[in-house]
Amino acid sequence: MVKFVYDFSEGNKDLKDLLGGKGANLAEMTNLGLPVPAGFTITTEACRTFLKSSALPDGLDAEIASHLADLERAMGRKLGDPNDPLLVSVRSGAPFSMPGMMETVLNVGLNDESVAGLSRQAGGNDRFAWDSYRRLIQMFGKTVCDVPGDEFEQALHDAKESRGVRDDVQLDAEALQELVTAYKKVFSKHTGHDFPQDPREQMSLAIEAVFRSWNADRAVLYRRQERIPADLGTAVNIVAMVFGNLGPDSGTGVAFTRDPATGESGIYGDYLQNAQGEDVVAGIRNTLSLHDLEGLDKKSYDELLQIMATLEGHYRDLCDIEFTIERGKLWMLQTRVGKRTAAAAFTIAAQLVDEGMIDLDEALTRVTGAQLGQLMFPRFDLSSSPTAITRGVGASPGAAYGEVVFTAADATAKAASGHNVILVRRETNPDDLPGMIAAQGILTSRGGKTSHAAVVARGMGKTCVCGADELEVGRDQFTVGGQVVHEGDVISIDGTTGRVYLGEVPVRPSEVVQYFEGDLDPAQANDPLVAAVHLLMTHADSRSSLKVRTNADTGADAARARRFGAQGIGLCRTEHMFLGDRRELVERLILAHNATERKEALDALQPLQRTDFLEIFREMNGLPVTVRLIDPPLHEFLPSLEELAVQVAVARERGEEVEREQKMLTAVRRMHESNPMLGLRGVRLGLVIPGLFAMQVRAIAEAAVALAAEGGHPRPEIMVPLVGAVQELETVRAEAEKIIADVVRDSGVEVLIGTMIEVPRAALTAGQIAEAAEFFSFGTNDLTQMGWGFSRDDVEGAFFWRYLELGIFGISPFESIDRDGVGRLVRIASEEGRQARPGLKLGVCGEHGGDPDSVHFFHEVGLDYVSCSPFRVPIARLEAGRAAVESAGSDHR
Ligand code: PEP
Ligand code: MG
Repeated sequence: MVKFVYDFSEGNKDLKDLLGGKGANLAEMTNLGLPVPAGFTITTEACRTFLKSSALPDGLDAEIASHLADLERAMGRKLGDPNDPLLVSVRSGAPFSMPGMMETVLNVGLNDESVAGLSRQAGGNDRFAWDSYRRLIQMFGKTVCDVPGDEFEQALHDAKESRGVRDDVQLDAEALQELVTAYKKVFSKHTGHDFPQDPREQMSLAIEAVFRSWNADRAVLYRRQERIPADLGTAVNIVAMVFGNLGPDSGTGVAFTRDPATGESGIYGDYLQNAQGEDVVAGIRNTLSLHDLEGLDKKSYDELLQIMATLEGHYRDLCDIEFTIERGKLWMLQTRVGKRTAAAAFTIAAQLVDEGMIDLDEALTRVTGAQLGQLMFPRFDLSSSPTAITRGVGASPGAAYGEVVFTAADATAKAASGHNVILVRRETNPDDLPGMIAAQGILTSRGGKTSHAAVVARGMGKTCVCGADELEVGRDQFTVGGQVVHEGDVISIDGTTGRVYLGEVPVRPSEVVQYFEGDLDPAQANDPLVAAVHLLMTHADSRSSLKVRTNADTGADAARARRFGAQGIGLCRTEHMFLGDRRELVERLILAHNATERKEALDALQPLQRTDFLEIFREMNGLPVTVRLIDPPLHEFLPSLEELAVQVAVARERGEEVEREQKMLTAVRRMHESNPMLGLRGVRLGLVIPGLFAMQVRAIAEAAVALAAEGGHPRPEIMVPLVGAVQELETVRAEAEKIIADVVRDSGVEVLIGTMIEVPRAALTAGQIAEAAEFFSFGTNDLTQMGWGFSRDDVEGAFFWRYLELGIFGISPFESIDRDGVGRLVRIASEEGRQARPGLKLGVCGEHGGDPDSVHFFHEVGLDYVSCSPFRVPIARLEAGRAAVESAGSDHR
């Protein structure tokens, strides 16, 4: 029979898939002998069964009853005992951390009778007992029965107002007892029945609600954002309650073993006296620093420090921890390997290597290319000394500016119409998630680095300043120091320093980019982040088998990419070289009536092209440069048909001279295609327009010979686009070889000829095509376009949102390679190409070449290189190293 329930003493940290992160780590801490309240975990498998059949699985009830009996024995109390009740929390816990996304119900087991028993347990503390009861009704109502949370908030607000107090803690027992009556009314008004008094029923309903919360809108959205699979389900933890709200010798806190924002070593955290856990995470009250606990309760503080050291040593990583102190007794409620900013990820990985806790290979698994990308964002340039209007906690780094909005709905709407927005809230809650995603940055007036806003923003890599407590946030404006900032006004926020500025502050490049540019020497910079990036990049390069080239078509881009570590150019698109003041020559070429006119245009273009190539070959001296012959439909170089038609009609109407325009219009009409991306482009152009490819081939060969004559070492590779049949390539090749032989003679220059694989037919006949190609470069943009039949220029904006919503794919296949479909074409072509021509050089130059997940795929397939835009070169280098380490790890297993 399937086992659905595990006592904490039965699990361990490696059972995350089954017990969820929280359950697995509670079990691990229990086994380490740390002070964890007794409890048990209901597995994710039970959740999956429930979600499929809308009923709890057979046998689960009996298993829960048996584990509950054990829990009651361990605690010496019974659930629902009116005199001495056991209370439990019912907590969600998914295999991946989804902060605040799913539900938790505390104080389960309280009812009209046991509230008195709880008061006695707490030494006659009526206030505490009624406060716990009202919290149960509120959480249970919202979570289990969908009672609108605002109504509870309103009742609480009314209670405070009628007693003339500001804070929840100022409400006395009598006021809280009245509040319970008010809450019960709210509850029955919305549900049509009374608040359930049977504790076992409370527990079962809470378990089902936690299971259901896996599919709540915000959880679905978060998973999609974070690329967490939709079918994992959540576990549920039933944990004996311990209370942080029993008085000033009690409290609750969140702690990190290192600073999750900067990575600096040394403990870090927030503590709230006389409060329950949700108060800290919700950022409802401003917290004390963890260091203040030392003054309040030295014994618990010392014990906590010791436990934190134990946990870090055990997990060999930054841990975050939730704890509660009940009347001077410390309890651990949660630990996990903590989320951190991109900067902290690099700094901590390097620190742990220094401290001998992990080796460099493992350090590479602790950072990602996406994090490196975040570190390459620019930061504020403060040389104009802008004055900050206020300062909060720098909770998630970055520099963001935008128009102020006050609701998630406004953030989404304004962002959709192309505005940069900063979402300003008192505090955020999970319902704000869509607005947080849409905004450039988030600013809150309450809560610390562990508040919801901070945790979620860090996870998304979004700039966030929180706890800016001088802000008075209203409905459509906020005030600070007498200054009023209205909705739509522009502010800038600095997620590193926590400073908030009025207006748009200019930005400057990151130190990491300066390091890649060679402007910062890691040995001298005295910057732990730059030193960490240097250490990990150097190791990644030493491990990777996949080379990284760049897509560049100017000397400046080539030079930058080389500084960023590119090992050549994988794609030099030549079409941009036909624009600007050369457009006129291209028009002459297209409109040529005869061979003479065409030759004149080509002869004029040829020296210009030679100069273009020479500049690029010089920058990449000694490294391979793949130059792709012209690819897009020629009409892209001509005026738009509609505009020209209007222009001619208007000119005619006015009786003006239109002969030239009319000629052009006729040509544009002649060349007009219904599906230009599937029309006269790529190799087809070369076959149809005599001399076009020949001109480019000659320019490439001459530029290479010129560089060789200067003493350089050019390594040109000529690439033919859009080939679908070997015969196309053979035809181009035969002509090109003659020209090359004629130009290079005895210069020592060697020119390779290869092709893009970007048409599905090319991938499926790769064995034949390889006979005529010295290399393949996968054009995964077109391969995705033609593999899926998705127009690459239209579909993402037009309807991909629906595909993402339906989960047809979790990310656009234009962004990350579709491994099963388009990826399969790449695999087939690689295998069959290499079978036909052993040693065939393979690369990829579509956008996927710089996408972290795709880089891992290309490593698996065994390509020789990926090629991407200059700024993504460091990201691809890091991921290539990580992919090599990961595959070496899986080979060992
Ligand atoms: C491709 O199709 O992947 C490619 C690199 O070519 P382009 O994007 O220029 O069509
Ligand atoms: Mg292409």
